[in-house]
Amino acid sequence: MTIQKKTRALALAIALASTSSHAGFGTLAFVGARIIDGTGAAAIENGVLITEDGKIVAVGPAATTPIPPQAERIDVSGKTLMPGFINTHGHVGQVLGLEGGHYDYGNVMRQLRLYARYGVTTVNSLGDDEYEGFEIRNTTDPVRVDHARLMVAGPVLAPRSVEEAKRAVNGIADQSVNFIKIRVDDNLGRTDKMAPEIYQAIADESDKRGIPLAVHMYTLDDARATLAAGADFIAHSVRDTEVDQAFIDALKTKDVCYTPTLTRELSTFVYEGEPAFFSDPFFTREVDPALIATLREPERQARMRENASAQHYKTQALPMAMRNLKTLSDAGVKVVMGTDSGPAMRFQGYFEHLEMQMMVEAGMTPMQVIQSATSVAADCMGLDYLGSLEEGKWADVLVFAKNPLEDIHNTETLEQVWIAGNQVPAEQE
Ligand SMILES: [Zn+2]
Repeated sequence: MTIQKKTRALALAIALASTSSHAGFGTLAFVGARIIDGTGAAAIENGVLITEDGKIVAVGPAATTPIPPQAERIDVSGKTLMPGFINTHGHVGQVLGLEGGHYDYGNVMRQLRLYARYGVTTVNSLGDDEYEGFEIRNTTDPVRVDHARLMVAGPVLAPRSVEEAKRAVNGIADQSVNFIKIRVDDNLGRTDKMAPEIYQAIADESDKRGIPLAVHMYTLDDARATLAAGADFIAHSVRDTEVDQAFIDALKTKDVCYTPTLTRELSTFVYEGEPAFFSDPFFTREVDPALIATLREPERQARMRENASAQHYKTQALPMAMRNLKTLSDAGVKVVMGTDSGPAMRFQGYFEHLEMQMMVEAGMTPMQVIQSATSVAADCMGLDYLGSLEEGKWADVLVFAKNPLEDIHNTETLEQVWIAGNQVPAEQE
């Protein structure tokens, strides 16, 4: 079964081809903008995008796209429209400030609203999801949503025997997780790594249940071995060595997607000094100043400077991840935007923009990066009704003052966010 087949079967409350429509939505016409539809097609200048009850019903140049008389016109002249961003690897609900253990309904919703204000309209949470996350996923009204859509994986599985592995997979499969998530990593030699017979059992059982398997890994060997075992999604960069042709071929043959999570590496060392983004209003507007003050404490910065792991991630892992990203992207592997945001110091919403900037620094074009965060991400997540500004898709629409194709930093000129035709409130509630 392909990953798309699996993810589609399990998409549930995410994006679903709901036929329900709520009165009161009516028809919206976004008029006068440049439209980047997310598919890689050239931008439409002076475009018109029409939505009806949360879905896109027409999109094209103004000259050939009639505006229905009943439409509410939204003048976006000179601005740029793009589809909502999909973060293929995030986490929600656990962290408050710098502290874990705060998982509850309010914290998950707060974070889904935060993602949404940054234009991240769908989040694939790859682990540590609890009851409330499932509940939110299951009960999200596809037409009246004003927070990021959520996919869940439940707990990250770490069974110690083959029998336990089978039980664990079936246990969470019964709750219809969108992904099963495992870690195959010894954390630079500091912990035990999951044994091959265990992840093989997990992969086999996941496959039987039709649930895609996402793998956290670090090395090329582990990426290759888990891929051979049946992994469906490579949830981080290969960071120990250069990827090779055999790995590229395996990814392409199995149609497996790869997410770089470059900002995950960044977060391990960037607070050793003053990160450039501390003076970016697009960052500071959503972050508690007290938290920034804590991260600026000299002793804390010194600890990070002196931390061997942090310095390894900085000098070895991140540069390797960026080189490998360029190689894989050039080879035509499906690269998708994902950040691993959500844990402490990985700022949801802002880090997705930073990630896209780093993907361009690694050598991808702005167009490729936009596709990786929209249509390619939707494809890899099995979200048929999201990921592009095309007829029939949900109207997850971002409005930018400046064109991100000219400079990817222009995603920070985000002015409006719409999810299924609902405008997301710009201010924190
Ligand atoms: Zn993660």
